Formats: sequence, C-alpha cells, structure tokens
Amino acid sequence: MADAAVKTAPADASEAELTDGFHLIIDALKLNGLNTIYGVPGIPITDFGRMAQAEGIRVISFRHEQNAGYAASIAGFLTKKPGVCLTVSAPGFLNGLTALAHATTNCFPMILISGSSEREIVDLQQGDYEEMDQLAIAKPLCKAAFRVLHAADIGIGLARAIRAAVSGRPGGVYLDLPAKLFGQVMDAEKGEKSLVKVIDAAPAQIPAPDSIKRALDVLKGAKKPLIILGKGAAYAQADDAIRSLVEKSGIPFLPMSMGKGLLPDTHPLCAGAARSTVLKDSDVVMLIGARLNWLLSHGKGKAWGEAPKKFVQIDIEPKEMDSNVEIVAPVVGDIGSCVSALLAGMGGWATPPADWIKTVTSKRDENVAKMAPRLMNNNSPMDYHGALGVLRTIVKERPDAILVNEGANTLDLARGIIDMYQPRKRIDVGTWGIMGIGMGYSIAAAIETGKPVLAIEGDSAFGFSGMEVETICRYKLPVCIVIFNNDGIYRGTDVNKVSSDPAPTVFVKGSRYDKMMEAFGGVGVNATSPDELRRAVNEAMDSGKPTLINAVLDPAAGSESGRIGNLNPQSALKKKA
Ligand code: ADP
Ligand code: MG
Repeated sequence: MADAAVKTAPADASEAELTDGFHLIIDALKLNGLNTIYGVPGIPITDFGRMAQAEGIRVISFRHEQNAGYAASIAGFLTKKPGVCLTVSAPGFLNGLTALAHATTNCFPMILISGSSEREIVDLQQGDYEEMDQLAIAKPLCKAAFRVLHAADIGIGLARAIRAAVSGRPGGVYLDLPAKLFGQVMDAEKGEKSLVKVIDAAPAQIPAPDSIKRALDVLKGAKKPLIILGKGAAYAQADDAIRSLVEKSGIPFLPMSMGKGLLPDTHPLCAGAARSTVLKDSDVVMLIGARLNWLLSHGKGKAWGEAPKKFVQIDIEPKEMDSNVEIVAPVVGDIGSCVSALLAGMGGWATPPADWIKTVTSKRDENVAKMAPRLMNNNSPMDYHGALGVLRTIVKERPDAILVNEGANTLDLARGIIDMYQPRKRIDVGTWGIMGIGMGYSIAAAIETGKPVLAIEGDSAFGFSGMEVETICRYKLPVCIVIFNNDGIYRGTDVNKVSSDPAPTVFVKGSRYDKMMEAFGGVGVNATSPDELRRAVNEAMDSGKPTLINAVLDPAAGSESGRIGNLNPQSALKKKA
C-alpha cells in the first residue's frame, strides 16, 4: 500500500482502496529519494505542493520560477540526484525554462515538472487558461522531455525522467503533467505496483583498456604536462581518486572555476596563479571533466601559445571528443572509473621534469606575491582587492562554507583571489556566465548541504534574483550575502550627455541593499571599509542568521565586462558619433 494513498474505508468488501495522480507523483518522488521540491505554487499545482509537504517532501516556495529552477539545477550538481523544480503552466513554465536550459548546458541533472493545460483544448488551440504546447517548447532546451497522460504511467514517466537526467552526460529533463492527471483516480494497489524505483540510475561507464593505455603513453612522453580539472570532475565525486592521480603523477593542475577546491588552491601542484604560463607552455594537456569551449579559448590561438600540444580528454560524452581540436587520447567513461583505471595502469611512474615544475611554481609564487599587498588595503570606499582580501581570509578560516559568486568584476576577481580548499564549495555562473543564479544557488546550497553560505554578488547580478531574500528569511537559511555595490553595471560612473535620463549602466547612487533584508526580519549591514566588512561577515557566519551586507565600493572601481571585455562588439562608426 503506497503510504500516501487515500485510505477510504471500503463501503463493501468488493470496493477497493483508491489513489490518485497527486499521491502517485508524491509516492514516486519519495520512492526515488527525491525529497525536496523547489518551485512556485499556482494553478494547477497548488494543492500538489501542500500535499507533498504534508507527505514529508520539503517544499521550498520561491518568488520567481527562474530562481527555483536555478536552485534545482545546483541541487543536482551538489548531490548527483536530479534537482526538482515545480512550476505552473505557460508563464511559470517559461520562467523555469531558462534554468532548465542552463542545467543542460552545464551538465547538471534537473527535472522541471510543470503543470499544463488540457491537451484537447491546447491541441485545437481553443484558448484554454494558460494555453501552451509546453512539451514542444521544452524539447530543444533539454536532454529529454516527457508527458504523462494517465495516472498508471506516472511511475514510468518519473523513472524515465530520472534516468535521462543523471545517466551519461547529466542534464535537464522536462516532465509535463496536464491538470487532469492530478485528479485521476485508480486502484491503490495497482497504483503502487506501477511505481518504479530506479535501479542504478547512472551506471558506471568503464573506459576501454586501450584508451587508458593510449592516454598513459601520451602522458609518459610529456615534458611539460598539465591537468585541467573542470566542474565535471567536481560533479563526479571521485575526489580521492583525482587527488591520488594528481599527486602520484606529479603533474601540475589547473582548476576551472567550479573545479576549484577538488585539491586545495594552495596545493604545491596547483597552477591556478600561473594560468597563462601553463596554457601557453604545456606540451600535453589532460582534461578531466572540462570542455574546450570559450572558457578555455577553444584549445587554440594566442592563449595556448605556438608550441604543438597534445590533448588527452576524460569525458562521459563521446561526442565531446574533437569538438574544438584533435584529441589524441580520448578516454570515454565516468570520471571515477577512468581516473581509477589510469591510476591502476601507471605502474612505475617517473614524475615530470623538475624544470617544468620549477617554472610553474616560480611563476605562481611570483604572481601570488605581486597580489598580496593589494589585498591588505583598508581603503574606504573599498576597492575590489581590499574587500576580496577580507573575504579570502574568511573562506580560508571557514573552508566548509559554500561560496556563491556572480557579477562581472566581482566574479572574475573573486575567482582568482579567493582560494578554495574543499570540493564543490564554489558555485557560480557556469558555462554561460549567466547572471541571476545568486539567490537560487544560495538557497539550494543551504538546504542541500546544511552548511553556511557566503554569496558574493555584484550589485547588478544580485538584482536578477534579489526578491528571494524574502525566501531566505522565510526559511531562516544561514546565508550571508555581500553586495559589491559600485552603483552600477561594471562601474557606476557613466554619464548620459544628451538628456536627464541616467546612463544605461548606472543605478541609484548610494543604494542601501541592506535595508531590503531588514524589511523581512533579516540582518542588514552597511559596510564602508574592509574592517567593517570582516566584522559583519564573521558575525553573520557565526550566527547563521540571514544577513545582507551592502559593501560600499568606489563607483570607479571595475572595468567594462570584467575580464571578458574583448567579447563586446565595437562599432566601427564610434568616432563619427
Ligand atoms: P568547466 O566549465 O568546469 O570546464 P564543463 O562544464 O565545460 O566544465 O565540462 C564538464 C564536462 O564533464 C562535460 O563535458 C561533461 O560531459 C563531463 N562530465 C560530467 N559528469 C561526468 C562524469 N561523471 N564522468 C565523466 N564526465 C563527466
Ligand atoms: Mg556593479
């Protein structure tokens, strides 16, 4: 008997107990360990949310579906189970789609479950309430999309969604549940039997022995090898094996943004602070769960230098190989299995030439030393380095806190300056460099890990999800938000020379974001110097109270588009205008 089934006393012995769509969906989720739903209530899923909560599922209600979706996506990254987002039809569904596409792009497992309108009316385009062919619209934006029309298919529908989300390369899945399905009644015993507990949802994918041998041969021939650890490596949760591989091989490693902390950034083999040198001068590069996309300059061009390079790539997705440059040793499989196989095959291993290690180490030490004094300034108003110097120390002292980070300069500088010490502690804008993940990520990180969260936010980036501070206060989450407030996008100094309208990139000068938090019973602090910032963050992290710190930055601090200003198209007519 499914425990949520409606237990009505049969009127006579021949009348069986009944269940319905509502209860079958709840039972199916619970049966598969999906115990948290991120969403926004409304027609036709309001009652579903209430019932799910009553049946022991944690239901986190947001103010906007996009933020609930981002929360679900990062829950997937942190747990390796699909994060579940629940939305209402048409507009709510569309609001959730950005996050679904984001999950797919970033290879995070997520299921967007949306209520939808009546098929018969939608398909004849007769103008139903919130009419939209949601399944068709979702399809190109996710790994797989399914619709369930009959209560008896709910178990199979959810099983397919789970497998699609987590097996192979993880990604977003859409599950369409028309309003009518929820109230459909069926025999409770048959209903329970129709549910599926997914066995081995993400089966190990063992690499071919030949591919391991080929990779080891290439690595053995290297004079200047490099390992790049991407967020796929963090996702895989093969932390010990990856650490052993790096240490046993003696090869310097470069962590991608969300790969930081797999091994500490302070590890002797970390080449994070020598990034341009290792990209340029390495001769063999092994990618582990990292794609050669724009974030790695597609593996070619100026950033990679003149010298010929050989690439080894470990990835679960065979089609990723040769996507940008030739991969001479593709290793296809899950990272845990691939790294273990490499370790097993290494045998007597000669570490890379000492002069290469020395080049990397001295470049790194030189860069770190150059940066150090700038991080210690106590300027007021603050600049990025003064503020980040403080936060860098706080993260060092609290290595198990989760760091959420978005913005332009706030992102680029924090990524470089703040060292991470543990895996999956840094979560950020990901493959698209998307703005708006801040509060959704913070909420999910607190809920999924129970750890304190420090969100370092540009003032512009924060605005995309700022209303969720109410959600943070409502659920009393241990989230400390620091807004790098420089009065605008990139900087707050642009001037409109032709009218009284503000320039497109500036905000209200001297805004007090801390007051937003106070409006909902949280703690708000206005910090005008690094000392004040340090005090406020430590207090927030100690108390676990929802806190927002308005860090007053010099409006002139910051550069256009942070470190990626080169991606802005330039008008050839600029001079004439
Ligand atoms: P980054 O942006 O950090 O470089 P990417 O998102 O570009 O990382 O790359 C992550 C890669 O990791 C993707 O190509 C994905 O297929 C791969 N991946 C994700 N999970 C696994 C896993 N468990 N085993 C192997 N590869 C994985
Ligand atoms: Mg700004």
